[in-house]
Amino acid sequence: MKVITTIDEMQETILKDKKIGKSVGFVPTMGFLHEGHLSLIKKARGETDIVVLSIFVNPLQFGPNEDLSSYPRDFERDHKLAENNGVDYIFYPSVEEIYPEPLTVTVKVNARTDVLCGRSRPGHFDGVATVLTKLFNIVQPTKAFFGMKDAQQIAIVEGLVNDFHIPIEIIPIEIVRESDGLAKSSRNVNLLTIERDQAPVLFESLQGAKALIENGEKNPNIVISYIREMILDKTNGNIDYIEIYSYPKLLELTQLEGKIIIALAVKFSKVRLIDNLVLNIQ
Ligand code: AMP
Repeated sequence: MKVITTIDEMQETILKDKKIGKSVGFVPTMGFLHEGHLSLIKKARGETDIVVLSIFVNPLQFGPNEDLSSYPRDFERDHKLAENNGVDYIFYPSVEEIYPEPLTVTVKVNARTDVLCGRSRPGHFDGVATVLTKLFNIVQPTKAFFGMKDAQQIAIVEGLVNDFHIPIEIIPIEIVRESDGLAKSSRNVNLLTIERDQAPVLFESLQGAKALIENGEKNPNIVISYIREMILDKTNGNIDYIEIYSYPKLLELTQLEGKIIIALAVKFSKVRLIDNLVLNIQ
């Protein structure tokens, strides 16, 4: 496994691999790897000849009052995990390498940003789409692997590659959870002990919502109220949003039918957690 820190070396290395017919799988991350990231890497390992993992905490996707400075980092640990899970290249650029000066062009996401994390984190998805456009041009992968934990991100990235004719297949991967149901996240280490004990309620509330729907509930507002009450009752978190839309278009629904996403975000003292469930309703 090789660690590459410059754009030039990354592009030259990949071009050599592609010239001899290798397919390239790409897993973009912000590091502090956990089993969610590893499941993306394993999937890439199974589907492509070369696996590139990027580790880059992208300042452009953090708002002024968000957790950029407290975002957890541990490159040595990430290096070992990547090596043990079959990564060929870690692309680990500095902020100066990616943004040597203010960008003259950025990507602006026009659809699907007025809901969920797009509404509560203005500019976030523009930052994500901009850095991914750069990373896609640097790594030039055949396939890119993304977690359904960030389901809105996947829908937006699908829009990006379609609208800009970027020849990359986007592969969605199921959410990996702790044994108590909490979705794995690099940010979970910043939960206080009591908050960590309460955090599985997020997934429990989604499971309860699923059961309600399976028992015939068609009204999204009733499902949302059920989730809200459970989270208010059993956690100290502040609800950022609980919303239900069609998936992947993220359009409002008056009746629960077809493919839907139930998604939520809850703020704890130092961390904002997200989770979701995608259901196919007959
Ligand atoms: P991050 O490092 O948080 O930017 O995440 C990098 C990639 O890993 C994204 O595609 C995430 O959706 C994915 N990911 C993060 N947590 C999980 C999880 N618990 N299960 C599956 N994928 C995940």
